[in-house]
Amino acid sequence: MNFLSAFVTFENLHEVRRLCHWGPVIALSVIAVCSSMAILDSIIWYWPLDTTGGSINFIMLINWTVLILYNYFNAMFVGPGYIPLGWKPENQQDYQYLQFCRVCQGYKAPRSHHCRKCNRCVMKMDHHCPWINNCCGHQNHAYFTSFLLLAPLGCSHAAIIFIMTMYTQLYERISFGWSTVKIDMSAVRRFQPLMPFSVPAFAATLFALGLALGTTIAVGMLFFIQMKVILRNKTSIEAWIEEKAKDRIQYYQTEEEFIFPYDLGSRWQNFKQVFTWSGTPKGDGIEWPVHPKCHQHTLTIEQLKQKADKRVRSVQYRAVEDYNGACCPLSKGVHTFFRTPCTEEPRIPLSKGDTILATRGTNVLSLFLPSAGERIRGWFPRRCVEKCHYDTAASDTTSEKKLN
Ligand SMILES: [Zn+2]
Ligand SMILES: [Zn+2]
Repeated sequence: MNFLSAFVTFENLHEVRRLCHWGPVIALSVIAVCSSMAILDSIIWYWPLDTTGGSINFIMLINWTVLILYNYFNAMFVGPGYIPLGWKPENQQDYQYLQFCRVCQGYKAPRSHHCRKCNRCVMKMDHHCPWINNCCGHQNHAYFTSFLLLAPLGCSHAAIIFIMTMYTQLYERISFGWSTVKIDMSAVRRFQPLMPFSVPAFAATLFALGLALGTTIAVGMLFFIQMKVILRNKTSIEAWIEEKAKDRIQYYQTEEEFIFPYDLGSRWQNFKQVFTWSGTPKGDGIEWPVHPKCHQHTLTIEQLKQKADKRVRSVQYRAVEDYNGACCPLSKGVHTFFRTPCTEEPRIPLSKGDTILATRGTNVLSLFLPSAGERIRGWFPRRCVEKCHYDTAASDTTSEKKLN
């Protein structure tokens, strides 16, 4: 364990339970399969270790595995950083600018959001990532993004090994007639494999190749998304808040100018806020450097305005069809079937005649279901409700639902 604590910053050792989830189980299995197959293929069937190229190849493979696991475990166990339970701003006057989290019994610091999975308010929350079974936020943003870069690089290297192994081994048996492929095969020809490259070895290598290529494409795309977040210093949640801010200003035709406060003005400055040599990002995750025309609470005030706006602009809907709360309702037509969210979003049963208050977002509607009498979040098919043609000033409770 001493070795492990030196290797990974196990500040939150109790967090080991985060491993017991499908995300880390699948992610670690993919890493294990690709790494071990690449190493086995390199030693047994492909590059003899007594050549310089073979040794460099082998050291690089080990290196990828170590770096990938280092960043992966740090992203998971260091975590995003949570706002202390019961947190209050130092200055009492600032209470009015912040939202209060009833679960954490504290104020939500700027840039923080409450994660329902982690059940805590998360510093500079970007999203909850099922693959690390933790949130991506302030403290693990650099580890998380490094992992997203290293995994495709390591997988590409492994994919080359798999392709070369299959090629050289089959080349010995079958002539493909690939005379145009110029690869120096002399080292391989001199080398007698420790084991014959059998059908199971071929199948395992092919399987690992599929995993490696899939990971390279999928994780590589996530890397570009996260780099965009870092270079703009704007999390996915904040991008959404900004969009709603522009929408709100346009709707009311106010002369306000919304400036996103956390962009430091240069990509390099934004990058350096997240990536530091020590591995710990700049800042305490509560107070942030802001644009000269903004102040600490520019964004939180905008969030409060949007929250208040929801009630004024809410639209009344009436349920016109019953919905029994089925996970993927087949009886509601093909359109509904294809637009059913593939999430663990709870399903809300409806009865004909229910009244719902909603606010339009891009595809999310915030709803209040008076008949339920309590806060509920969830989804139900769009076609079960019909818009009533009058606006209502609504209530003090809202619940969020996805309508499709
Ligand atoms: Zn909270
Ligand atoms: Zn979370």
